[in-house]
Amino acid sequence: MKNIIELSLKELEEALTAEGQEPFRAKQIFSWIYKKGVLDFDRMSDLSVDLRDTLKENFTLSGFKIAKKLQSSDGTEKFLFELEDKNLIEAVSIPAASRVTGCISSQAGCKYACGFCASGKAGFKRNLTSAEIIEQVLHLKYDSAAKDLTHVVFMGTGEPLDNYDNVLRAVRLINSPDAFNIGARRITISTCGLIPGIERLSKEGLQVELSVSLHAADDKTRDTLVPVNKIYPIPALIAACKDYISLTDRQVTFEYILIDGVNSALQNARDLSIMLGNMHLCKVNLIPANPVEEFSIVPPQEAQVLAFRDYLIDQGITATLRKPRGVDIQGACGQLRLKNADK
Ligand code: SAH
Repeated sequence: MKNIIELSLKELEEALTAEGQEPFRAKQIFSWIYKKGVLDFDRMSDLSVDLRDTLKENFTLSGFKIAKKLQSSDGTEKFLFELEDKNLIEAVSIPAASRVTGCISSQAGCKYACGFCASGKAGFKRNLTSAEIIEQVLHLKYDSAAKDLTHVVFMGTGEPLDNYDNVLRAVRLINSPDAFNIGARRITISTCGLIPGIERLSKEGLQVELSVSLHAADDKTRDTLVPVNKIYPIPALIAACKDYISLTDRQVTFEYILIDGVNSALQNARDLSIMLGNMHLCKVNLIPANPVEEFSIVPPQEAQVLAFRDYLIDQGITATLRKPRGVDIQGACGQLRLKNADK
């Protein structure tokens, strides 16, 4: 049986028609699921018993359970979900002054084994279905302390462009006025640099934000930090980003973790500014490295972080500094992993 949250509104209308039901009921069902967070057909009280039975015969609704919920002292909340096949995934709710960002996973585990990220440590399990992606958003919206989810970022576990179709299906539902109604510009897809995915995304006609996890301005350093760089090296990646910008007229954000002694010297800032200097519509988001047990990475001293940022700004490059959130619950960037089950 298909999970009903796999379906777009139009697909649900068609499915209802095929079952001899009135298609306009689809909007009502969407409203129960997405506007009220009701994941139980029996609680959809304005639907006839006959329709509820049809739904139960044809669809499942809730697919996984909340295995654990952790609250950080800074308001960040981390959810550990157990999927039907017992795989575990994580999602994080990050409230800030004027927004609540939901950070969601696109895969159980990750193939890409970046040299600073806990998510790659347990290896790759499988792609998430679009329903499993959407259900994270439902729980973040309806089961977290900060309910008014305003932004969604694909910065949890996994590589969204390696699970392209399911991620895009989920993006359209997150964006849809009949479902979550979160503006495309408030949805960020973050990639370790899969060029074919970037090319495909540029042709979708979507206004989503694209983030590229760059982390180095030379291939030698990036090869060790982001091993997929050996397949999609920096010059080709930067060319793909330029094409993306000219095709979409949208900005690309380059994520850059600052790791002491690896990529955070002023010379690295210089290389980065030269590389991005002629790219209009881009910005750099600097992230002081968060601690991860297995990697001996440490962030630079604050003065060096600020010097790196200021150097970029002096060169005319928009650069921001990301404040780590939820470090105490292992919920910060790069700290999501599968093994939390037994913690
Ligand atoms: N695979 C995608 C989505 C994961 S996003 C991608 O690579 O973009 C995860 C973000 O957290 C990326 O920007 C990643 O580089 C960053 N990150 C991973 N480990 C980190 C760490 N230890 N400290 C800070 N940021 C980290």
